[in-house]
Amino acid sequence: MSEKSLGFDTLKVRAGYQSSDHNYAVAVPIYQTASYDLGSVERAERLFGLEEAGFLYTRIGNPTVDVLEQRLTALDNGSGAVAVASGMAAVAYTLLNLAEGGGRILTTPRLYGGTFDAIKHLFPKFNVHVDFVENSDDPEAFRQGIGPDTKAVLIESISNPNATILDVEAIAEIAHDNGIPLVIDNTFGTPYLFDSFAHGADIIIYSATKAIGGHGTTLGGVIVENGKFDWSNGKFPHFEEPQYLLRDQATGRERSFLEVFPGAPFTTRIRLSYLAYFGASLSPFDAFLLIQGIVTLSERIDKQVSNALKIVQYLQSSDKVSWVNHPVAEGSPYKALADKYFPKGAGSIFSFGFKGNEEQLKIFLNSVELFSYHANVGDARSLIINSPKTTHGELNAEEQSFAGIKPETVRLSIGLENADDLIADLEQAFEKAFVETLV
Ligand SMILES: *Cc1c(COP(=O)(O)O)cnc(C)c1O
Repeated sequence: MSEKSLGFDTLKVRAGYQSSDHNYAVAVPIYQTASYDLGSVERAERLFGLEEAGFLYTRIGNPTVDVLEQRLTALDNGSGAVAVASGMAAVAYTLLNLAEGGGRILTTPRLYGGTFDAIKHLFPKFNVHVDFVENSDDPEAFRQGIGPDTKAVLIESISNPNATILDVEAIAEIAHDNGIPLVIDNTFGTPYLFDSFAHGADIIIYSATKAIGGHGTTLGGVIVENGKFDWSNGKFPHFEEPQYLLRDQATGRERSFLEVFPGAPFTTRIRLSYLAYFGASLSPFDAFLLIQGIVTLSERIDKQVSNALKIVQYLQSSDKVSWVNHPVAEGSPYKALADKYFPKGAGSIFSFGFKGNEEQLKIFLNSVELFSYHANVGDARSLIINSPKTTHGELNAEEQSFAGIKPETVRLSIGLENADDLIADLEQAFEKAFVETLV
């Protein structure tokens, strides 16, 4: 059976794994090994000469990790993927692979706090600079932001914490008009809710730590490509550079990543350069846990989306809430974009404005009993956090306002509990916050 003809739910359970290749084990085995026997001198020559595919060392490839990579490739209908030890490693390797040696990344301030801080303060030390589009709701602002050294546009499919949605197809077209790829961090969208490649992305980044793993147990990151971007357009000479590592065994001629891996040059280059030498590899056990998560991805996300809808409705009806930022909230400016890009729902991570003073907000957060108070999202458990002081605490006041984060912002990530229990928990915490401070 060709995987291309199978539906998403079948692929999430089965893609990338044939039990007959693994002693007929039904569950994906954990290959807990650092290295692999080369077999014979002749086989070693073929492996190191890239004439035979096989595993050499777990830093650059492992059969359990390989199943995770293949499964995400299938779910996103891509041509290749590479898994790494965390979402931040995925972000860092992607941006370096695009702009190494010097270049600019065009993005928006509506980013994961760690990504924002890294590209603003750390990447410039590697001569990778960032430009922020001020009004990212206007796709034309991206066109104006692209300069001769811009190497990519980076956006998030659903932003954190305010759940805003961009006009992805319009932004993709502008990037492609300028010969640069569109990179989408689809951590909040997941491959289930958002089809990044169908809407113009060239590279997808995931923090698998979040909804892909889904149980708050495991860090991981994945980079997926679809092999369609033209890396030979002159802006990315490092993809065309002849490498000794990739030499033709018969003639000794050095070859480039584009020449040897035309279907997946981007992720292969990350694997053989950044993963090989910067070394943030995903462990086989962690890959196994992330695969376990993917098996129930659709079922979990569907329940979380329907729970989130109920909680949005409750918050909108509360007089202790000043605003709710979710595309399904009444009056949301993102409704039309959500209908177009997120037909199955725009996720379960969103924010609301707490209508009380700082002291009351403290009481409210200290009073929730079911919601866990911490920074991870996409977990089976519901989570609550005051973003300006935590997840986006590395941004100064001006940067926070630029990113749309107000002092009263509370972010929720809705899990798999009963929605009524979650609503009752918020209600009792609101009551404590507002009654206790009145006396
Ligand atoms: C969490 C997150 C990251 C970083 O992922 P880690 O796995 O925590 O390193 C990157 N992007 C987004 C959108 C995230 O939510």
